[in-house]
Amino acid sequence: MQSHSHGAHSGHGHVQHEEHAHRHVDEDMLSVEEAYQRVISCFSPLGAETVPLMESLGRVLAVDVHSPLDLPPLANSAMDGYAVRRDDIGGAGANAPRKLDVIGLVAAGQVSSQEVTSGTAIRIMTGAPVPHGADTVVPFEETDEVQRRKAGQSLDQINIQADLPMGANVRPSGEDVSSGELVLTAGTPIRAAEIGVLASLGLDAAEVRRSPVVAILATGDELFPAGRPLEPGKIYDSNSFSVAAAVLACGGTPRLLGVARDNLEDLQGKLEQTAGSDLVITSAGVSKGDYDIVKDVLTQRGEMNFWSVRMRPAKPLAFGHLDGPGGSAIPLLGLPGNPVSAMVAFEMFARPAIRTMLGYRRLARPKVQGVLTAPIFNYDGRRVYARVEVTRTDGIYYASPAGPQGSNILTSMSRANGLAICPEDLPKKDAGETVDIIMLDWNEEVEV
Ligand code: AMP
Ligand code: MG
Repeated sequence: MQSHSHGAHSGHGHVQHEEHAHRHVDEDMLSVEEAYQRVISCFSPLGAETVPLMESLGRVLAVDVHSPLDLPPLANSAMDGYAVRRDDIGGAGANAPRKLDVIGLVAAGQVSSQEVTSGTAIRIMTGAPVPHGADTVVPFEETDEVQRRKAGQSLDQINIQADLPMGANVRPSGEDVSSGELVLTAGTPIRAAEIGVLASLGLDAAEVRRSPVVAILATGDELFPAGRPLEPGKIYDSNSFSVAAAVLACGGTPRLLGVARDNLEDLQGKLEQTAGSDLVITSAGVSKGDYDIVKDVLTQRGEMNFWSVRMRPAKPLAFGHLDGPGGSAIPLLGLPGNPVSAMVAFEMFARPAIRTMLGYRRLARPKVQGVLTAPIFNYDGRRVYARVEVTRTDGIYYASPAGPQGSNILTSMSRANGLAICPEDLPKKDAGETVDIIMLDWNEEVEV
């Protein structure tokens, strides 16, 4: 039901579209792969910087990290119990308890100065270093401690009621990591677990690849800032914000330059502010019906290519660079103006570029295969990226079109958690057919 309204095409019959498919293939169009290669080949990982540990989340390690210490530093107890000598408890059982003198207590954070000698035990808490002389920890549950407490007896002595193997419930020093060991390699993405590992080594900073500064510039005389009643003929600028959020979400550092009007002075002025950024992303002004001024200015200020990419949405794409001071150059990606096109083009080209600069080796979103619940149509031999809601039932993924697929229908992007692909050489993918799906999110509806 959802898929039958395809924006500008909704007034036409599907049969007619199928007949027309492939007829008007524009030979100048680049394949998605070709455009991707041309873009991605211009990017490489940025330099390293040392940042406070918490700021390294989502970044990529620039150097190998070797451990400065053993982890755990000292052999310690895995349980609350009694540190004993294994030789003292051989053959112990519920009906053959071994009585030991309790000579002390050691809690986490302390080091006992006492030694466990034959016939003695030291009460020990989880994480406390195992005292000299002890080699095994007997948990409380394997002793008569509870009965003693109930009976109001002293804990100066304890009955051990189990025979445990040598070393039971003792975590040896260096069990996790030994001093000097390579713990994390350069190129490792930093998640919560890596933050934890680095913190466990006593590190309060990490050497990571720099986060690219991405200047974001919307263009168009119709764009109007949020927070004020809309004037006639205007629309609110959404691309600046969806793109900035997408930059943030993939680990980049957005720098919002606002809106450039469709005139020479304004656009040139805004482009001055791109200095020092690692990537410039513009939106709009790259399709055929535009004021040529955007294209002209970009071309004058650097080297720009304007491409048609064999995909829907997001056919028009600009890519090149702006000249900076001293012969430097800043890559510029010109996204199409339609809000969904801008986001899909960002997904396909900008996100991998940003991830490359961050030092990630895996650039693509995860893909799954799923069964379509409604058809996806391909009107003109482009690769279709349909916004879909992906769910999983009994181990099978299902993709349902997330509403009308017009490139201006941003709410269907909001409903989607994936992009289902209809290849360029097929007129449609039918309900029941299996498609490749790019997963944008693994939301709660997708059980993994
Ligand atoms: P253009 O590429 O300039 O022809 O723009 C294509 C469509 O996208 C037009 O309908 C524009 O109004 C719309 N558009 C352009 N920029 C934005 C923006 N920043 N936010 C929302 N819509 C936009
Ligand atoms: Mg425009």
